[in-house]
Amino acid sequence: MSIKRNIESIGSDLRKGCRLIAVSKTHPPALVQEAYDAGQRVFGENKVQEMSAKYEVLPKDIQWHLIGHLQTNKVKYIAPWVSLIHSVDSPKLAAEIDKQGQKAGRIIPCLLQVYIAKEETKFGFDRTELLTFLENAKLTGMSIEGLMGMATLTDDREQIRREFRELHDLFTEIGKMHLPQAVQMKELSMGMSSDYKIAMEEGSTMVRIGTAIFGKR
Ligand SMILES: *Cc1c(COP(=O)(O)O)cnc(C)c1O
Repeated sequence: MSIKRNIESIGSDLRKGCRLIAVSKTHPPALVQEAYDAGQRVFGENKVQEMSAKYEVLPKDIQWHLIGHLQTNKVKYIAPWVSLIHSVDSPKLAAEIDKQGQKAGRIIPCLLQVYIAKEETKFGFDRTELLTFLENAKLTGMSIEGLMGMATLTDDREQIRREFRELHDLFTEIGKMHLPQAVQMKELSMGMSSDYKIAMEEGSTMVRIGTAIFGKR
C-alpha cells in the first residue's frame, strides 16, 4: 500500500471530531513530503533534533507535534514554532515550556501526559500529581489543551480499552472542574497504529499513527 492509500484508508476510519497525527519519526523528509502531497498537514515526531531538521526542509504550513519525552534543555529549540507538545510529563518540564513560550512571545499549546499503562518505563503524571499540578498552574507562555496517554503494549484488547476508558473518565472529570484560565480539556490524544480504533471508541480526539502509514521502522 502507498502512503497516500494508507492515509486515505485511515482517514475514512476516523470518527467525527478525531484528527490524524501522522507519526513520521525515523522516516526521511521525502516520505513526509509524500504524505504532505496526499494532503496530510499534521506530523508527530519524538525527537527534537529530528523534528527540527525536518521543519527546516519541509513546507512551512506543516504543523509539527512533539509526541516523545522532551528534555528541559531542548525546549528552547522548538519553542518558536512547535504546534503542540503532547508529552508534558512533569511540572519541571511545564515550567521550562512556560518560560520558553514567554521568551518566544507566544503561548505554546500542550497536553499533559498521563501514566495509564501497567508498565515501568512510561512517562507521565499520575492522577494525584495531575490534580495537584492543575490546582497550582499559573501559566503565561503555555496553554494546556487536554491530555495524552499510551496504553500498555499488550495483546489484551480489553486491558487497552480499560486504560483508554480510565483516561477518558479523568479527562471528563477534569473538564468539569473549575480550571485556571490557561487550562482547557478539549483534546484527548490516545491511540496508535495497533489500538487507534479502540481509542476512538473510547473518545480520542487525536490518534498518533506511524506504522500504519509509513510501514515498519
Ligand atoms: C512512535 C509513536 C507513535 C506511533 O506508533 P505506531 O505504532 O508506529 O503507530 C505514537 N505515539 C508515540 C508517543 C510514539 O512514540
